[in-house]
Amino acid sequence: MMGSSHALSGAAVWLGGTWALAQFADYHQTPLQIAVGTAVCAGGALLPDLDMSGRVTRGQGGATVAHTFGRVSLFTAEVVEKVSHAIYTATRTRRDPRRTNGHRTFTHTIPFTVGIGFLTTWACTQGGKWAVLGILFFMLGLALRGLFGQFAEHAGWIPITLVSGGAAYLTYLYLPADRGYPMLGVAVGVGCFVHLLGDFVTNAGVPLLWPLPVGRRMWRMIGVPNVLSVSVGGKVETVLLRGLFTLVCLAAAAALIGPAVLARFTTGT
Ligand SMILES: [Zn+2]
Repeated sequence: MMGSSHALSGAAVWLGGTWALAQFADYHQTPLQIAVGTAVCAGGALLPDLDMSGRVTRGQGGATVAHTFGRVSLFTAEVVEKVSHAIYTATRTRRDPRRTNGHRTFTHTIPFTVGIGFLTTWACTQGGKWAVLGILFFMLGLALRGLFGQFAEHAGWIPITLVSGGAAYLTYLYLPADRGYPMLGVAVGVGCFVHLLGDFVTNAGVPLLWPLPVGRRMWRMIGVPNVLSVSVGGKVETVLLRGLFTLVCLAAAAALIGPAVLARFTTGT
């Protein structure tokens, strides 16, 4: 899937889940928590593709996510790709093909998804102010890049960096640590998992069962059968799926915010 579809799917899953939690489990969140969770989940849904490196010196190539903060994120993608490739090479069996790059390997596994979620919460609760600010800044930047792709491409990385910096600071000021920080980790983890599902339905598949060996292969790519798979950037993705994600976002947001808005209008009459 393309970056913008991944981000939109992350936002849809988070908003839909938030609505379901409020509706069926009586778990309610403040508008700020909902907004931040949605953004972080959308950003998290781009994170696994940070394993696709481009050309740092020319500022080209890489996935959407690698362009969020200009050359800095392109360089990060380079490092993530190399580390992923090293993990692949170190853990592959003789039946796994040799690879020349690390795309769709370690960052596309369940252990990465769960690990990055725990790591986020741990860093926020243990790392103090700068860790929280750094994580918020990074994740909100990814969300902006993913959700407002066309604008971001035009405007470049500087406005994204400034806006996510400001939003991160405000969020830091108003987000309660006790409920907010565990929520950030969950949002990052859920976002990554939604990304895996998105790649799962495209032709290439993901190493969903790693590190469990399947047929003496550690890195078997698992996806839906080819006849059912969605081609990247095709009509099914850009029209049908994106339309569906947008609809879920709007419906869930309306259901979550609607009653409060109605109450405000009806009180005093
Ligand atoms: Zn991917």
